[in-house]
Amino acid sequence: MEHPENSEEYKGLVVNKGIEQPSSVNPYLKRKPKKRQLSVAEFVEGIMKGDVTILSQAVTLVESVKPEHQAVSQEIIEKCLPFSGNSIRIGISGVPGAGKSTSIDVFGLHVLEKGGKLAVLAIDPSSERSKGSILGDKTRMEQLSVHPKSFIRPSPSAGSLGGVARKTRETIILCEAAGFDKIFVETVGVGQSETAVHSMVDFFLLIQLSGTGDELQGIKRGIMEMADGIVINKADGDNLERAKLAATQFRNALHLFPAPESGWIPKVLTYSGFYNLGVKEIWDMIDEYIDFVKGNGYFEYRRNAQSKYWMYESINEQLRDSFYHNPKIEAMILEKEQQVLKGNLTSFVAARSLLDTYFEDLK
Ligand code: GDP
Repeated sequence: MEHPENSEEYKGLVVNKGIEQPSSVNPYLKRKPKKRQLSVAEFVEGIMKGDVTILSQAVTLVESVKPEHQAVSQEIIEKCLPFSGNSIRIGISGVPGAGKSTSIDVFGLHVLEKGGKLAVLAIDPSSERSKGSILGDKTRMEQLSVHPKSFIRPSPSAGSLGGVARKTRETIILCEAAGFDKIFVETVGVGQSETAVHSMVDFFLLIQLSGTGDELQGIKRGIMEMADGIVINKADGDNLERAKLAATQFRNALHLFPAPESGWIPKVLTYSGFYNLGVKEIWDMIDEYIDFVKGNGYFEYRRNAQSKYWMYESINEQLRDSFYHNPKIEAMILEKEQQVLKGNLTSFVAARSLLDTYFEDLK
């Protein structure tokens, strides 16, 4: 082919004719044969034996969006379900910087000293694996991540909150079947993810900080109301007095809320994750709570209510998915949206016509 660069007058870079590439750069390189995927029975057997590699692979299937992976993972979950439930599930929430990773690291080690196995999972709908904001990331929990009895799994990557939360809930089932008797579910203390976490745990722990003077500002009332325990972190050094003051303010504020259904009065404690002070007391509080709610029947009641909630959540999520991924809907939804924006169509008529199309298509 003629290149203007090859003309006599051209003074810039010259394009040379290419040479043919060899068929393989490294003839000695042997590609690894693709690993055969385990059967459902092999997955279940591995999980039941507590094989963490197989557990991880199963969780990857749970998180996958591929329909064939979904089908396999649902079968695995179903088979594991009878062996699940036998754990204490704890939700841990706090704004970025509150000290969640530091705390979970020391708290987790403390819990493991008493025996058993601990899984740390996370819900962060904003996270994408490649982008770094990954709750539950191993490098954030240095000691726990190398502990032989722990299993740490980052948040499923970004998606709808419902989807991310469902995957975490299903992962809980697999972890329990694998013999993990303590489950931590971590979440960022901003927005809706607390509600999702609250709906899958037995105890909801809220990590707070002091030092802003106006401690209660900026904490959504709804989040505080969900807490079974509030712990003020970084109660060390110069900050100790302020942390104590914050604790008093939180205790006073909690009095203003209606008494929780569980009959348990939420406690407020101060601690330092960094210096490992007051960590034992947090676990003692959780132990006391579990004894209390197992005694009055609330433990069972809450788990049943959660199962019911997840049944409806799961239906909602799958219906939504099926609707929005329907090819006919995908082809017309943006146009309808435009008509609504231009005022040519009311929202209700647009919705009705889309739904009619969808149901017609299902027939
Ligand atoms: P996360 O974003 O909630 O996971 O918070 P990190 O655990 O990453 O902690 C945020 C920062 O607070 C880090 O620089 C920690 O070293 C510091 N930090 C965590 N816990 C404590 C504590 O108990 N006392 C003090 N002084 N600093 C702490």
